[in-house]
Amino acid sequence: MVKAMPYQSHGLLLDMDGVIYRGNQLIPGADEFVAELISKQIPFLFLTNNSQRTQRDVATKVRRMGIPVEDHHVYTCAMATASFLADRKPHGTAYVIGEGGLHNALHDVGYSIVESHPDYVVVGEGRTFTMEMLERACNLVIGGAKLIATNMDPNCPTQFGLRPGCGAIVAMIESATGIKAFSVGKPSPIMMRAARKELHLTADETTIIGDTMETDILGGVQLGYHTVLVLSGGTQKSDLKQFAFQPDLIVDSIAEIDLEMLLNEPKALATVYA
Ligand SMILES: [Mg+2]
Repeated sequence: MVKAMPYQSHGLLLDMDGVIYRGNQLIPGADEFVAELISKQIPFLFLTNNSQRTQRDVATKVRRMGIPVEDHHVYTCAMATASFLADRKPHGTAYVIGEGGLHNALHDVGYSIVESHPDYVVVGEGRTFTMEMLERACNLVIGGAKLIATNMDPNCPTQFGLRPGCGAIVAMIESATGIKAFSVGKPSPIMMRAARKELHLTADETTIIGDTMETDILGGVQLGYHTVLVLSGGTQKSDLKQFAFQPDLIVDSIAEIDLEMLLNEPKALATVYA
């Protein structure tokens, strides 16, 4: 006889960089943690503010690290941005500063990418943009196109230090035009809520695990999710005193998380680990 699944009413949103890997380096124990989620059929979704790669590219990267995930386990800020825009304006047009992940996501929802008269100027991660593209983006925004950011992360950690993130590129356009962007990626409730809905869970049935206070944990706190901060990425314990909000649980890395307890007693986290 098959035993009833006890965990069907709890699921996880997992940030990637700093939680599962750093750059191209797997964080020890992340593979076992995800394998346990899969074997116990616990709903989960990888949630990334990197719009550079497509859903399939990200899933492939994770599979090459020995974690057997499916494409549908990945949700990027490019996908969240595309679906948000398609809801507002079906079959619209966009001028894009970004790479394959963003172009693909927009095409998938029926958008056309254009050089003139776009409904939106959409900005994502990229290493290939030029001053000419920035100039065009600014003039299109001044001309009435709405400025959309896939996320406002100021930088991304790399093996060499950091590289300027989407937020840094957006800041140039905002500064030049005096017009503020609307951002869809974490911590925006738009991406945070859309990810939860993908898992068909309520807020109280959802836990987010991330390494960044300003995105993963802030978004989780605002949406009423359970929150777990890992210290294997960009945040150190001493950073926490500058924040008015705190995660429910702090661990050195994802390998330390007691999954049984997380799933059965998520409300007890704050008191047990305080
Ligand atoms: Mg991260």
